[in-house]
Amino acid sequence: MTKRSVGWVTTGLIGIGIFLVVATAYLLSDLRDRQHSVRESVREDAMWAVFQTHREASRLVEAILLAHTTLTPVTLKTVTLNFDLVYSRVALLDSGFFSKRFSGSEELRNSAQALQSNITDMANTIDAMVGDPVALIAALQPLLTDAYIIQDLSNSLVVAANERLSAARVQDRDRSYQDFGRLAQLVAATAAVFLGTIALQFIQLRIISETQRQLRDLSLRNSESAKAAQAASKTKSMFLATMSHEIRTPLNGIIGAVELLNQTDLNEEQARRALTIRRSSHVLLDVINDILDFSNLDANGVTYQNAPVSLPEMSALLADIFQHRFEDAGLIFEINVPPVIVSTDDVRLRQVLLNLIGNALKFTPSGAIRVSATFVREDRLRFDVSDSGIGIPKEDHSKLFQDFSQIEGSASRRFGGSGLGLAISKRVVSGLGGTIGVESEAGQGSTFWFELPVAALGPAPAAAPSSEPKSSPTNTKYTAKILLVEDHKVNREVAKALFETFGVTVSTAEDGAAALRCIETTSYDFVIMDLQMPVMDGITATKKLRELGFSVPIIGLTANAFAEDRRLCLDAGMNEFVAKPVTRDKISSILANFAALAPDKTAVDLLDLAQLRSVLRDVGKPLFLELLMQLSDDGQELLRMTKAQDAPQPASIFDPKLHAIKGAAATMGLKRTAFDAQKLREEKAVHAGAVKTLVALINASIEAAKADLEIPETFQTQKTF
Ligand code: ADP
Repeated sequence: MTKRSVGWVTTGLIGIGIFLVVATAYLLSDLRDRQHSVRESVREDAMWAVFQTHREASRLVEAILLAHTTLTPVTLKTVTLNFDLVYSRVALLDSGFFSKRFSGSEELRNSAQALQSNITDMANTIDAMVGDPVALIAALQPLLTDAYIIQDLSNSLVVAANERLSAARVQDRDRSYQDFGRLAQLVAATAAVFLGTIALQFIQLRIISETQRQLRDLSLRNSESAKAAQAASKTKSMFLATMSHEIRTPLNGIIGAVELLNQTDLNEEQARRALTIRRSSHVLLDVINDILDFSNLDANGVTYQNAPVSLPEMSALLADIFQHRFEDAGLIFEINVPPVIVSTDDVRLRQVLLNLIGNALKFTPSGAIRVSATFVREDRLRFDVSDSGIGIPKEDHSKLFQDFSQIEGSASRRFGGSGLGLAISKRVVSGLGGTIGVESEAGQGSTFWFELPVAALGPAPAAAPSSEPKSSPTNTKYTAKILLVEDHKVNREVAKALFETFGVTVSTAEDGAAALRCIETTSYDFVIMDLQMPVMDGITATKKLRELGFSVPIIGLTANAFAEDRRLCLDAGMNEFVAKPVTRDKISSILANFAALAPDKTAVDLLDLAQLRSVLRDVGKPLFLELLMQLSDDGQELLRMTKAQDAPQPASIFDPKLHAIKGAAATMGLKRTAFDAQKLREEKAVHAGAVKTLVALINASIEAAKADLEIPETFQTQKTF
């Protein structure tokens, strides 16, 4: 029932109530009238009896006078008849009926009694003369006297009864007035009660509608406050993003410049100071990245990308990252994970683990840090990061996972930090549908844990042990010719110099428009494109280049690390995305994916012609060509496998295909393809760019092999790519 219909029904009920009260009052008064008229008619009857007595008494007088004059038997008979009538009337007056009607009147009672005693005396006289007319005639005179007395008495009775009747009427009227007055008071009181109820109902309805209006106002104000809060939060996020951008730009310059400094001949003192600058810059960058990430999570939430993650590979990566820091701190580090591939957001998972392990490292002066992963359910993975550090008092646990929260008095101030690491971790874990918590006591170490919903995809091949010596790609030389588009002068110079340390030829442009002009006239192996630039930004420039049909690989370079920046880059047509600062490691990874190696003594021949020809002889040309086609298809399949993912994927996913390519290429004498496929198998993560390079190599090798098949055997010479 709606509020409106409740109102209508209430009003209706009140109306019916009023009608019922009025009707009751009416019926009461009607009933009273009827009672009154009944009483009146009874009184009339009594009055009539008195009149009758008086009339019969008068007739008796007349009859005695007539009998006295005529003295006939008939007239004498009439006397006795009339006396009988008077007697019967007087007898009536003696009945209860009369006394009841006129009770309370002394005069009336005396008159009635006198009448009765006279009539009784007269009756005795007449009865004594029954059958004796002579005696009756003789007694006529005294009888006349008695009849006159009776006539007088009945007359007095009439007068008294009349008076009594009038008095009774007056009394009745007074009582009626009183009753009506009381009835009116009752009806008025009832009506007042009803009116009060109605008034209350109206007041209540008004209160309800007023409350509803206030609620509406409140919800309006609330939504306005929510909007204002959202706007404030957005402003805060924008402020944080702008500030961190402004801080990161020169910081990138510092980090790059230190990297360059490290490439020069430094004495021990200088190297130590350069290392301090490098470490401090990275700490500062971490804080800024935390703030940036936090404001991003706060403003936009996070977009998660599930991908296959090999847990052993991830643990090897973590061990690599922290190895030196643990060694420096003299701490034991152990990491144990099940040998499986799971589906989750690898970047975010790594971010949480990096943060928890980083904290453990900060707050553990001696002892060990242990990381373990276990399946608590088939589809739920739990990570525990335990340390033997300073621990956290129970009363401080509620302060953990809060924004900008550090435990007072703990060593946090000494170690720095933004107080955001755990808050970010909590947001990320919740965003992934998991939970995070801590078990710790002061001085007893801590265990930070989190559980994530994951899908187990199958067993993971064992990761290469982290202690295995790795090739240092940062010394490799490349022949690439690249265009670096960056508006910030210092960063441009630093990045140029860093690229040049790899032997790369670098041209520069200050904005997107200048880059367009360069690319239209000169060909480059790839372009490094900053996003935020005056005149024309990197996104617009990339879109224009793609519209113009340029297929040169473009790698986005920006100080912003937001996920949507990455999406913007890829949507605009960029091939890859790299977050600043530009370091030698990042440049090395870009070059590995997009540049050709400079020919040197160690370069592997494109084809092993002796092998190729020997196989050709064994299998014949048609089958050999078919095998080459098969290899080309495998390459295309590899490309398809990368298309679904922008982020680097675990090498284990590509391993079966890479293994097949390596085997086939080696058998057919496609030596460089076999070598590079094997090299890719040894990587932990595979970039789409690296796959593209390999596929390009496969195609080039196939073309070279086909060309070799056409040359007469006597003219065949060795070729290199
Ligand atoms: P911060 O960047 O300051 O480390 P966090 O959010 O990561 O911020 O941590 C918040 C606080 O929680 C730290 O300042 C520290 O007081 C406490 N804390 C976090 N991890 C540990 C740990 N493993 N042992 C002791 N205290 C810790």
